[in-house]
Amino acid sequence: MLSATELLELDREYLWHPYTSFTNPLAVLPVRSAQGVHIELSDGRTLIDGMSSWWSVLHGYNHPAINKAITDQVNQFSHVMFAGFTHEPAATLAKKLVEITPVGLNKVFFSDSGSVAVEVALKMAIQYWHSQGQAQRTTFLALKNGYHGDTFGAMSVCDPHTGMHHLFHQRFSRNLFAEAPSCAFDEKWDDRHFNDISNLIQRNRQKIAAVILEPIVQGAGGMRFYSPIYLQRVRKICDEMEVLLIADEIATGFGRTGKLFACEHAGISPDIMCVGKALTGGYITLAATLCNDKVSDGICNGGKGVFMHGPTYMANPLACAAANASIDLLLNNDWQKKVTNMGKQLQTELAPCRTLEAVADVRILGAIGVVELKQTADVATLQPQFVDQGIWVRPFGKLVYIMPPFIINTQELKKLTSGIFNVVSKL
Ligand SMILES: *Cc1c(COP(=O)(O)O)cnc(C)c1O
Repeated sequence: MLSATELLELDREYLWHPYTSFTNPLAVLPVRSAQGVHIELSDGRTLIDGMSSWWSVLHGYNHPAINKAITDQVNQFSHVMFAGFTHEPAATLAKKLVEITPVGLNKVFFSDSGSVAVEVALKMAIQYWHSQGQAQRTTFLALKNGYHGDTFGAMSVCDPHTGMHHLFHQRFSRNLFAEAPSCAFDEKWDDRHFNDISNLIQRNRQKIAAVILEPIVQGAGGMRFYSPIYLQRVRKICDEMEVLLIADEIATGFGRTGKLFACEHAGISPDIMCVGKALTGGYITLAATLCNDKVSDGICNGGKGVFMHGPTYMANPLACAAANASIDLLLNNDWQKKVTNMGKQLQTELAPCRTLEAVADVRILGAIGVVELKQTADVATLQPQFVDQGIWVRPFGKLVYIMPPFIINTQELKKLTSGIFNVVSKL
């Protein structure tokens, strides 16, 4: 086994981390194990996880039920190609997803990551219109501050300025961007919040294949929570103008916002929906793109007649087994009560941050807590301070935010919120 020093040397020599440089690397911490909400470092320190490893870990690390589901499946078979074969983990999971997602989403396409699920959604929309004899409809209307992933199609619908992909912009197909939804989650609705997107759709309907958005929570683009009425209005105008609606629930799915899927806040169903991140409870990468009958019939009854996509590891049985176990755990453990209680505790315990000099805003939705700073946080200086508090919080831009695993108890959550207060109060 490598010593911590050897590990860090190898890491420094060979490994890219997300959004990092070899010439000016950010510190990384060697992880030895993880259990429940605790991540144990190789020097023996443990951290309470506030990030759920980027929205994924719902039931904690090293959960016996998910471990068992994966090992049982390993002992059957780990993978077979999905062309010409099918298997129980995939079929069971597809049925479950159709049952728990908004009504009408009846068909499931599995892929390996959130970004690819978005690529698949965009391709479905383009192929749908191609089959309808409207091949000119290839433009997407996305929202400013939106984030949909790191691959080319996904990048092309991320915010072109505040997004992380500005430097690739020359390569992108031209898409349309509406102003970010300006009506906050509980704010009284005013129609002026809808003018911009409404005008854009009406003026460009002939070339728009679909509107793509993150329902209710704009995640990586600013952690903003917007009004369900905005989402209802988008659904309505998409129907009127005959434009498809793609909901990217990759971050919001599986209970995080207080509803199983964020679309439920508005009582709407999109034509196409992407899920990922928490799908396997944080165990193995897996994503899915669901669509309604209109889209699947449209694609299959015209043009090429087949949907033109097929990943090598499509519907990987280990990942599907983990997802089945994770969804069962979620549904059988009164997740809604848990998320409501986490939300209440976050409200109470993060409220004092509002009084701090460095803080611009504090907002909570479901089991997501956000402390927005007035100035961009320096991760390199803040990160070690959170670690000193015994918590894992990774600031991003002006945002200090947490979305802990649902199994966290009140003392552990208290440690997270007071750790945040302690660090932010020193800014
Ligand atoms: C994380 C995320 C993605 C990309 O998922 P990856 O698995 O990182 O490719 C896409 N959309 C949203 C809303 C996300 O939060």
